[in-house]
Amino acid sequence: MSFAVNKNDRIEVKIEDLTHDGAGVAKVDGYPLFIPGALSGETVSIQVLKTLKNYGFAKMLDLIEPSEDRVIPPCHVFPTCGGCQIQHLSYEAQLTQKRKTVRSVIDRIAKLPDVPVHEVKGMDDPWRYRNKSQIPFDTENGRVITGFYKSRTHQIVDTDVCLIQTTEADELMALLKRKIQQLGIETYNEKTHQGMLRHLIVRKARQTGQVMAVLVTRQKKFPQKQAVVDLIRQEVPEVTSIMQNINFANTNVIMGNETVNLYGKDIIIDRIGDIEFEISARSFYQVNPVQTEVLYQQALDYAGLTGNETVIDAYCGIGTISLFLAKQAKEVYGVEIVPQAIKDAKRNAEVNGITNTHFEAGAAEDIIPKWYAEGKRFDVLVVDPPRKGCDEKLLETILEYKPKKVVYVSCNPGTLARDLRILEDGGYRTKEVQPVDMFPHSSHVECVAFMERK
Ligand code: SAH
Repeated sequence: MSFAVNKNDRIEVKIEDLTHDGAGVAKVDGYPLFIPGALSGETVSIQVLKTLKNYGFAKMLDLIEPSEDRVIPPCHVFPTCGGCQIQHLSYEAQLTQKRKTVRSVIDRIAKLPDVPVHEVKGMDDPWRYRNKSQIPFDTENGRVITGFYKSRTHQIVDTDVCLIQTTEADELMALLKRKIQQLGIETYNEKTHQGMLRHLIVRKARQTGQVMAVLVTRQKKFPQKQAVVDLIRQEVPEVTSIMQNINFANTNVIMGNETVNLYGKDIIIDRIGDIEFEISARSFYQVNPVQTEVLYQQALDYAGLTGNETVIDAYCGIGTISLFLAKQAKEVYGVEIVPQAIKDAKRNAEVNGITNTHFEAGAAEDIIPKWYAEGKRFDVLVVDPPRKGCDEKLLETILEYKPKKVVYVSCNPGTLARDLRILEDGGYRTKEVQPVDMFPHSSHVECVAFMERK
């Protein structure tokens, strides 16, 4: 088969677009080439690495004409570390790019070119935003290394600093890296399933400043635990809770089922708006608390509650959106498939003295039809599904029972657009879409879409 280009060809191209994982796209006689590191609008010289039937890959040799939006990435392990994809693009241009991504799927997949897609709501300070870090340990040539995995591998890219995590996470990571050998703690080896320390997890409650460190160990017996606790308390006094999680399984899953307290409380407490959340070592909690508030406020604005509405929060997690909505609704019904998250949701409602929420564990596509069958009726339905979007059966239920408003919170614009089209065909009208930047420097973008019955 012959293509517009062949392997090893060296050519000059103009970059037309960025893929969702941040690679530049150039077209040679209509044949797309993906070029990591290149940005839209740039002229680059490349070498073709691989040609497939419908597209190919190339590497950048020279940057001939750089984009005005190109910046020097502040992180010294970018782009080797897989954590960020677009640090070489100015933050403003990242937001423009994310809006373009959303606009494009709303046009092409939802076929709604007239629906407004607003400018992305970004962060004033797009650094140090992650409130949770999961840091693997390994030993290389007798030296302890820590950092994050290179994209699609389990190879740690060694670093002491990650500019999107908290400074406390940086300090703890660097501290343990320097000291664990002296304490006689071996790092876990994935291949031999030997060693002790697998991961360090750091969680910080932004509003209260409380910090939890979780040491994930292969065995429960951890003779150096007191020494580690003393070290952490002395060097990083911000830490209010130190936990040990035991994971003896030979798997990729980071945490095991058993968690024991080594120091301080079992939880840290954070607030979103004026709602308090108790976060334990394993609880699910939004990763960017600043933008979570922006996202939920948008959902709340679209829901347009007056106090008389009965609302569903489908895919509710630990009830964050539900509790946010509850203050302005008559009643909120939350459903979530993970039973522990539902327990946390109930506990969070209790802690905050909120009495007009009901939570049920199960699949949204099963529980919501059941609620309707029991005679319950709803004015507003909020959905916040995982990346694969809403289950078909749930969309059918919406079309059958016709709640007046649907507020769709989405972490994947592609499946959002697909589902909007299905609901449009069933009689809903999409009013507007508001993207929110939850993950600066990554290529992800979240959206809230607002739909009403015709
Ligand atoms: N709304 C929450 C969580 C959103 S993440 C928040 O803002 O924090 C999506 C959630 O959907 C996850 O908690 C996942 O466990 C849950 N989930 C996945 N499939 C589901 C299903 N079929 N029914 C109900 N919940 C589901």
